Amino acid sequence: MQLSESTWTDVEEEAPDLAVLPVGSTEQHGPHAPLGTDSLIAEAIATAAAEEYDGEAVVAPTVPVAIAEEHRHFPGTLWVSSSTFRAYVSETIESLFYHGCSRVVVVNGHGGNVNALRECCARLTRDNPAYVAPFTWFEAVSGRMGHGGTLETALISQIAPETIKTEELEAAAADGVEYWGEYQSGTNLAYDSIEFTTNGVVGDPTQADETLGEELLTEATEALLELLATVDRRGLKAPDAP
Ligand SMILES: [Zn+2]
Repeated sequence: MQLSESTWTDVEEEAPDLAVLPVGSTEQHGPHAPLGTDSLIAEAIATAAAEEYDGEAVVAPTVPVAIAEEHRHFPGTLWVSSSTFRAYVSETIESLFYHGCSRVVVVNGHGGNVNALRECCARLTRDNPAYVAPFTWFEAVSGRMGHGGTLETALISQIAPETIKTEELEAAAADGVEYWGEYQSGTNLAYDSIEFTTNGVVGDPTQADETLGEELLTEATEALLELLATVDRRGLKAPDAP
């Protein structure tokens, strides 16, 4: 069930114990893919898994603005500080706890959110009779993750094809770079994406098509379904018990 399309009486009746919270970002994804790429993907995977799940899983509304300051040089990119993001996500999850969702899986679409989400989920699990796990879709599928590259462009071609500028794909690939960051001695010297990619692209979006998008969506959804089942079965402990 989608929380934003349900009534409070639906929630009272279903009394879901398990929730998924999609977390995206609003940030540049090259000249060919929409700023909402990460949010669209997180929401699509969360929704597909909740629909297929053998049991009740409520889908909370997608968190649209996150930790993306590194993309701020590209117009339209929005961001909040890590502390604001952590507080907002944590309090949203605490309100799910209040309504009886003691198990929450955060479905993340953006690399910049990974560390903060891991930290939030650990804190919430340690401090509450609840279990919270962060799932980042591109850590669960095959293929190398770029930025506005093959994987994301393929998924958006499947989920929201009208938002891809296909006439920009060739140039996006030609002006893009192969790897994320600027590495020296195992250290990424770049803090902002503009330092290593002039058009925001990492990877090759010309390799993307709807078929690959469908395969990736299936692969990510199946991985999330397995995680939901595991989290759902997981016993809860008293706060701060070992
Ligand atoms: Zn992205």
